[in-house]
Amino acid sequence: MSYLIGIDVGGTKTEVAIIEVSDGHREGGHAFEYQGKPLYAKFLVRERMHTQRRAGYDSAIRRMIDLCKQLLQQRDLNPEKISGIGIGLPGPVDPGSKSMVTGNSGIFKGHSVHQDLADALQYKGPIACGNDANCFTLAESLAGAGYEHRKGAKDYIALGVILGTGVGGGLFINDHIFEGRRGGASEWGHMPFVSEGHPCYCGNLGCVEQYLSGPALEASFAMRMYSQIPNRPKAQEIFDLAEAQDPVALAVVKRYKRYLAKFCATLSQIYDPDIIILGGGVSLQNELYDGIQNLIEPYLFMKNDPPQIVHHKLGDSSGVLGAAFMAMKPGL
Ligand SMILES: [Zn+2]
Repeated sequence: MSYLIGIDVGGTKTEVAIIEVSDGHREGGHAFEYQGKPLYAKFLVRERMHTQRRAGYDSAIRRMIDLCKQLLQQRDLNPEKISGIGIGLPGPVDPGSKSMVTGNSGIFKGHSVHQDLADALQYKGPIACGNDANCFTLAESLAGAGYEHRKGAKDYIALGVILGTGVGGGLFINDHIFEGRRGGASEWGHMPFVSEGHPCYCGNLGCVEQYLSGPALEASFAMRMYSQIPNRPKAQEIFDLAEAQDPVALAVVKRYKRYLAKFCATLSQIYDPDIIILGGGVSLQNELYDGIQNLIEPYLFMKNDPPQIVHHKLGDSSGVLGAAFMAMKPGL
């Protein structure tokens, strides 16, 4: 049996969890397979707090350290008992320095969060840092939607695609996440997608994020209603309107699904994955999955046995679980 700490740092909330990993079945635990071994991950304790990013980095890291200490104390554990600590940050993380390179929550940018935490806890074991989209992909591929689907397959490729405020993702190959040379792999949100399309805040035209993020879907609806609506409906409301046969919402959702299918087919052409796991706010809409397998077919070069496009399974748990899994080493 071993213990891992997972820390999921978001722009608004930060969650810390202590996770017990064992090779015997644990009631309420998450079954997963790692290096060919069947294992179980069980949350011993988990707690959320506000990141309070306006108070700055020193305050945020101090509160994160305090919460780790408090949870360790609650479970009567000391840092020597911990086999790995993983930190998920809201932006791309350089694999060499383990620092966040860019991202919306600027206070963490360039800081050695892992080093500051290790120093304060006097922790000498493995400590990993990665971006939150990669944490989602790792957790879902190992213990979430990918688990049942994998069924002992040796070579296994899963993609995580986050359809949220932005569009991000991760690539899982045979038990690990492919991060790229600078930690920039799977930044799909800014892949050129529509020729001469909508302008993006990154300075380019037609990025994926301008078509598949929640705000993009909302903008697409609002644009078609001009001034006929006082408030701009949220993504969830647009799906509700479509279900109620509102013609504009139906057209907007239809187009969104075609874009999603085209995007999944593009990813499929590059990676030929076993499965594509959708996450983020927009992925909660069941309507997205209805007929999606048929929609991707016309865009596929190889039409036989296409990848399955599925809903995530772990919900809110994927952030901390994936962060903790990042610190896992073979032989755990
Ligand atoms: Zn862009």
